[in-house]
Amino acid sequence: MADLLAAHRHTTNNRAEVEARKVCGCIYCTASFSPMEIVAWSGLDVSSFDDPDSANAGTALCPRCGSEAVIGDKSGYTINQGFLNRMNEAWCERTIVRRPSPKK
Ligand SMILES: [Zn+2]
Repeated sequence: MADLLAAHRHTTNNRAEVEARKVCGCIYCTASFSPMEIVAWSGLDVSSFDDPDSANAGTALCPRCGSEAVIGDKSGYTINQGFLNRMNEAWCERTIVRRPSPKK
């Protein structure tokens, strides 16, 4: 369970980590996809969009379901269906930890 807790940290402020990889996955809908498919990042606004410091602070939004629940394999975890299913169970079905409130 500890590894699932640790892995969840990689779903936020993960732009550099996600973009660097060939595959990433969403622990909310358990889809896996190429980072090229990610078209939206939270944590960025127009004023900071060109700021390289803030660019790395972006959080990937899942291109399938829009959740901030994307993890890349650079996090040290192998992104496969089994892993995504385990993360989904831990974070989205059971309530072992309060889910972060959605951003406006
Ligand atoms: Zn998703």
